[in-house]
Amino acid sequence: MNKRPAIPAALVREVKMESGHRCAIPTCKQTPVDLHHIVPWETCQKHEFDNLIALCPNCHRRANDRDIDRKSIKMYKHNLSIVNSRYGDYERRILQYFVDNSDAEFINLP
Ligand SMILES: [Zn+2]
Repeated sequence: MNKRPAIPAALVREVKMESGHRCAIPTCKQTPVDLHHIVPWETCQKHEFDNLIALCPNCHRRANDRDIDRKSIKMYKHNLSIVNSRYGDYERRILQYFVDNSDAEFINLP
């Protein structure tokens, strides 16, 4: 059996940032998050951005138990990529501001 290498820190950051460091399931959005291999590590044997998604420990366990099936997880991942390409960096930073500051009702732009 191959020993599983750690997921590189830069890749961990990229995957977590994709969902704003929150669970990638839109109605969940809990923290903290783990990285889940959509196609299981035992099968894919590599760490790739497109195969990784940030899930909270509860959703991660449900995904591993197939209570949340792989097709659903793939669709959540796909939706994240749509959100991330629909908005430019500037818009994403504004959206992120409201994620980070949940009490904020407005933002002052320069
Ligand atoms: Zn979750």
